[in-house]
Order: sequence, then C-alpha cells, then structure tokens
Amino acid sequence: MLRTAEITAELTGLEDSHRLYWRSQVEFSLDCFICERTGRTTVFDRGAEQALCSGSRSGFTRHRTAARLAGFDTTSGPERLAVRALIDFWWAPFTDTRDGIKAAAPTSHPWVRLGLAYCCPDAKESGTGSIQTNLVRPYRLTCKHCDRLLGVDRESPAVRLLG
Ligand SMILES: [Zn+2]
Ligand SMILES: [Zn+2]
Repeated sequence: MLRTAEITAELTGLEDSHRLYWRSQVEFSLDCFICERTGRTTVFDRGAEQALCSGSRSGFTRHRTAARLAGFDTTSGPERLAVRALIDFWWAPFTDTRDGIKAAAPTSHPWVRLGLAYCCPDAKESGTGSIQTNLVRPYRLTCKHCDRLLGVDRESPAVRLLG
C-alpha cells in the first residue's frame, strides 16, 4: 500500500553570508519489502521517480525501490532555515529474514539524513554538510573553509506518517 511520511527539520542561529540551503537529497530508512530487511537506508533525489535501497551486505545489494521524494519545501526566516520533505513509498508486510522483526511503516526507529550546502564568501568556494538523526545535539554546523558557525541544529528531524 502507498504510504506518505513527512520529515521536518530546522536550523536556527543562521549565519547570512554563506547562503546556506538544503540540498534536495534525502536519506531515510525504510522497511524494504523487496530485500525483506527492516531499517534500510534509502536515498531519494528530487525529481527521481524511484529511490535507491542500500540493500544488505549478504544477498541483496543496492537496488531501485518503489519510493520517491514527492515534496521538498524549504523556508527561511530571520536566522532560521526549515525544510519539509514528503516521502511516498510502497509498503508491504513482511518479516525480516535475518532478525525476525515485522515490517512497519514508517520503520520502527526511522533514521534521516538531510544535506546542506553553502558558499564561503572568504574562500569563494562551496561546501556541503548534513544533519542526521543520530547526532549529539545541539549540533553546530561550521564552514569547512573558514570555520565560522553557519547554524545550529537543536532537535532531531521529526518523522510523521501522513497516510
Ligand atoms: Zn531493499
Ligand atoms: Zn566560510
């Protein structure tokens, strides 16, 4: 059945001169009915009609799966930068062949990574960073060229099943 998950995240204390923005690539863990493993990291690109499941070390390797990034909205306000991503994915029940866990939608402990990019005015070069579920927070994102603080991530990305 088709399911939709909403992912939201926010950075605060934003620094202006680096023009930080969210990259439209999302990694999100799903219980994959194709390789029948729970909690598989799945890579989504905006505009792609499918996503890429990382598979597992034994047996299935990376493969395309029936999921897509259906929406990607970013908002920036005074000193804040927010993102809302919608993930459509096909979900079917199964039991993990390795550890016997039953599949769920979304997966029981969803993991998210969201990419960021910026341009350093001092180095005149671009840079990238990311935030993810399992970080020590508050997490301070710094420019890899000049070390300036670009923004602070205070809370893990929120995941909510919409339908
Ligand atoms: Zn898979
Ligand atoms: Zn910089």
